[in-house]
Amino acid sequence: MPELIANKRDGKVVNEAQIKQIIERFADGRIPDYQMSALAMAICLRGMSFDETVALTLAMRDSGEVMRFDDIDGTKVGKHSTGGVGDKVSLALIPLVASCGVIVPKMSGRGLGHTGGTLDKLESIPGFRIDLSPAEFRRQLRTLGCAIIGQTKQLAPADKKLYALRDVTGTVESIPLITSSILSKKLAEGTDALVLDVKCGRGAFMKTEKSAKELARNLVRVGRLAGKQVSAVLTDMNTPLGYAVGNAIEVIEALRFLHGQGPNDLEAVTFALGAEMLILGGVAKNRTQALRQLQDALRSRAALATMRKLVRAQGGDPTVVDEPDRLALSKARGSVDAEKDGYVGEIDPLGIGYASMALGAGRQRADDAVDPGAGIQLRVTRGDAVRKGQPLATLYAARRSLVDRARERVSEAFSLRATKPPPRSRIIGTVRR
Ligand code: URA
Repeated sequence: MPELIANKRDGKVVNEAQIKQIIERFADGRIPDYQMSALAMAICLRGMSFDETVALTLAMRDSGEVMRFDDIDGTKVGKHSTGGVGDKVSLALIPLVASCGVIVPKMSGRGLGHTGGTLDKLESIPGFRIDLSPAEFRRQLRTLGCAIIGQTKQLAPADKKLYALRDVTGTVESIPLITSSILSKKLAEGTDALVLDVKCGRGAFMKTEKSAKELARNLVRVGRLAGKQVSAVLTDMNTPLGYAVGNAIEVIEALRFLHGQGPNDLEAVTFALGAEMLILGGVAKNRTQALRQLQDALRSRAALATMRKLVRAQGGDPTVVDEPDRLALSKARGSVDAEKDGYVGEIDPLGIGYASMALGAGRQRADDAVDPGAGIQLRVTRGDAVRKGQPLATLYAARRSLVDRARERVSEAFSLRATKPPPRSRIIGTVRR
């Protein structure tokens, strides 16, 4: 190991057999954390060749169970987001795509840091279970075409261990390490194809378009080499997505979307990813056809009906699907108002994400509990004209003191400017090869 670390430090290539052995020995504890951290840092600084990235991805995938769904008819398509603020896309997208005939076995994560997690959001629906047994998961995929559960411990355990180490050693921001981390888990989930939402901007891992594109290309190429069809949609994360940030509050926004009530940017991202999923799932020939199918499923309420069935099947209260406002928001509330007249410029997603976390919607540590009713409702979006004193956001928390503490952070996240900012699309591009 010391020799391999030194080789990587000096920019030399580590071969496939060596990578396989490192991952096996790290997973079973024979390689200590300090050596693995040193190697991760060397990779972070020196990068990895394409072949090394493939070898690392496959070794981590094979460190645990690799699921198979051959016994379930239809093309199974996975979805993954690299993480953002206000990212409730899965909640809207999964029932929408499933109602168009694609099978979506979804394994989601919890929020950590400034980004939220689909599992925490779903658990704000009273009774909703994310811990379906493997038999329940398969049964629901057969009957309904979609199910959302937590990632099992058996899936890519080497990545789980390595990611925890990277999180505390400054070694997250490395394209080969992120590629192998995401893909090892997604390949182990056993879908036929995969659609990725690669977020780009201040609220994302990838801050620049150049690095996001490089990550997207790497993910698509490594995925293909591992035998999966992969598409990556690059989406802007320089402001929170939609108007809601938190847990129940994001579920409410996603449900309203399924009722046909926007917002526009959530629709743009959901449709862009949905179109790729319908094409890879073999139910649409091209983008135009796919978009028409998605619009029809939204208008006819077929997607809403699938969401109602999904919530009921997983033990949740299905009445919230028809009446989203039944989901309770936390009792202590406060407003952040405009300090001057102007136009809303950027709304810093990091500031909003950390404020939401401080209100109780996120975790400081992995084992913290979240407050399902805490969060932030943005009252305006980028480009809106505002008058002094007009509410920019409403904050929700369990205690007044939490609201008061988060207020300044939310206020600082808004930039008010004299001129209207030029419009910006959420969709930056799509990488298919
Ligand atoms: N998400 C992951 O699963 N892994 C990373 O390394 C970064 C984001």
